[in-house]
Amino acid sequence: MERLTDPETMAVVVATAEPGSGEAGAGGVEDAEGPPGAEAFDGDAEAADAEAGATDTGATDTGAVAGAALVPFGCTGEQAATSRATRTAQQARMAIRSYARRVAPSLCDTPPMAPDSSPASPSATDPVRGDGPGLLRAIEARLPELKLLEDPLDRESYRRDETAYLPTGLPLAVALPVATDQVAELVRLCGEFDVPIVPRGAGTGLSGGAAGIEGALTVAFTRMNRVLEIDHENLLVVTQPGVVNADLKKAVAAEGLFYAPDPASYETCTIGGNLGTNAGGLCCVKYGVTRDAVLGLEVVMAGGQVMRLGGRNVKDVAGYGLIPLLVGSQGTLGLVTEATLRLRAAPPPRATLLAFFPSLDAAGEAVAGIIRAGIVPVTLELMDRTTIRAVDDVHRLGLDRDAAAMLLVESDLPGTAAVAEVDAAEAACAVAGAGLVVRAQDATEAEWLREGRRLAYRALEAQGVARMEDVGVPRSRVPELLRAIEAIAATHAITVGTFGHAGDGNLHPTFILGRDEPEATAAARLHAAREDLYTAALALGGTVTGEHGIGAARRDWLVRQRGEPAVEAMRAIKRALDPQGLLNPGRVLA
Ligand SMILES: Cc1cc2nc3c(=O)[nH]c(=O)nc-3n(C[C@H](O)[C@H](O)[C@H](O)COP(=O)(O)OP(=O)(O)OC[C@H]3O[C@@H](n4cnc5c(N)ncnc54)[C@H](O)[C@@H]3O)c2cc1C
Repeated sequence: MERLTDPETMAVVVATAEPGSGEAGAGGVEDAEGPPGAEAFDGDAEAADAEAGATDTGATDTGAVAGAALVPFGCTGEQAATSRATRTAQQARMAIRSYARRVAPSLCDTPPMAPDSSPASPSATDPVRGDGPGLLRAIEARLPELKLLEDPLDRESYRRDETAYLPTGLPLAVALPVATDQVAELVRLCGEFDVPIVPRGAGTGLSGGAAGIEGALTVAFTRMNRVLEIDHENLLVVTQPGVVNADLKKAVAAEGLFYAPDPASYETCTIGGNLGTNAGGLCCVKYGVTRDAVLGLEVVMAGGQVMRLGGRNVKDVAGYGLIPLLVGSQGTLGLVTEATLRLRAAPPPRATLLAFFPSLDAAGEAVAGIIRAGIVPVTLELMDRTTIRAVDDVHRLGLDRDAAAMLLVESDLPGTAAVAEVDAAEAACAVAGAGLVVRAQDATEAEWLREGRRLAYRALEAQGVARMEDVGVPRSRVPELLRAIEAIAATHAITVGTFGHAGDGNLHPTFILGRDEPEATAAARLHAAREDLYTAALALGGTVTGEHGIGAARRDWLVRQRGEPAVEAMRAIKRALDPQGLLNPGRVLA
């Protein structure tokens, strides 16, 4: 990697990982038997530890990246050259990744916030329903090959997803099926014994959709983790739901193809979870959300029937559109056991721009300006000052810590068109008042910057007890949303780190509370700030959730956003497809 920017006018970012440091592989497919979230992050622990040992440059307590100290903006060209001589960007990036895997879980290991006081808190802790012991005996008799976790410690590790603040229940047991017929039989048995089911992928969800329900059977799809077919001729892939998003991307990339949906958690989360939440990510602004990539689904319905929807046709309008209904239903309408997903030819390497702004407002105006100009970048991401500093504290990327906000803009157009597109975006940033504007010199450096953005939430978690929100507004109203967030932070004297998919109008204001703040006051302050945030988003014609879902976290806001007639229609659909209320009860709908 060379310089990120002109040394005369602005800072320089240079990777400084030790030579010969081992490359930690991208998180592999999980072992289904452990706590899914933790496993995925710890998967490379040994390599990471070895690497850290080899490269530790005296990281501080604040979490400087072992072996990946980066020459900060403003260093001299000579200093940069010295660093370049000893380390490479790739090594630094891998060090960042392995550091994140090793450290992020402990950063997140904060005491859970006081339980959500919302009246619509989930039914997760309601009295156990149905005949659990009878179900377990029947599963053992009818599905002797099935992996079933009954040990309390194992079950405990499936209690939560990434929403530590919500009330949860202890699953009756955790089933780890490997085939559709096992899933169908499980569902039939649950119906027979009236035991609810919680479908689960990697448990990285941010709305409580996969958290345990007391006495329910959690069906974790992590062992259904095979990519079944890559159909190059039809540009599609057929996959099981437990495949990790990054592994699917890797498998199709090996054939020169590209699977677009890329939630920031892509190295951990599963395709089934992505389908459950209709996950978004960093390149939705150009390629759309998960739903836009789905051609076909195999779904086990609440009665245990296996339903196949869609297939390999690009166009197919026979009957009602059940795929869009199922995708994003958070496991409340059916269990996805196979998906046929749209692929594209692998795009060329991206041109990448970072623009720093003196005010949050200016960054918001730049977002609106880029969209207004008809520019369709592949990535248009925002981080505010709190987030920039948090990321830089942990990962030492050498970001401009004095900037009020930063935009990451990328183009993946072919040839010189990419540079032209980024030039146009830069012009829009300049009109909005951007200060520093820097460009990545190569694909590695670009990926490395993207990784900094992806780790934003983990970095904010290092600052205190963090709670990520997920509001969205029409893109022209991003500046107003950013102003509203600043006002809410001031009114409630609460720290907010805002980042997210600004190009989609989807932001993640993350409230950060002190670890020593008494639970009751923290919960009350948070509740009030959250009410104001959702009110502001709706007043701007927006949504209380852009990509994380209603789940158990936002049920009381569903009617306020959609209105009673729409929610009643949703209830009618739920009653029709799941009359017994077996599938993830209490999620999405009260
Ligand atoms: C650091 C971090 C960054 C994130 N970034 C993003 C982002 O950029 N964009 C984004 O959209 N989300 C993001 N998320 C949220 C989360 O990763 C996504 O919602 C993801 O899609 C969840 O996948 P999972 O495998 O962990 O699913 P889980 O959390 O296990 O489940 C999610 C939902 O899907 C349902 N489900 C799971 N499997 C199935 C199945 N086979 N059939 C039916 N229903 C099923 C579950 O019941 C649950 O309701 C992020 C989370 C973290 C922690």
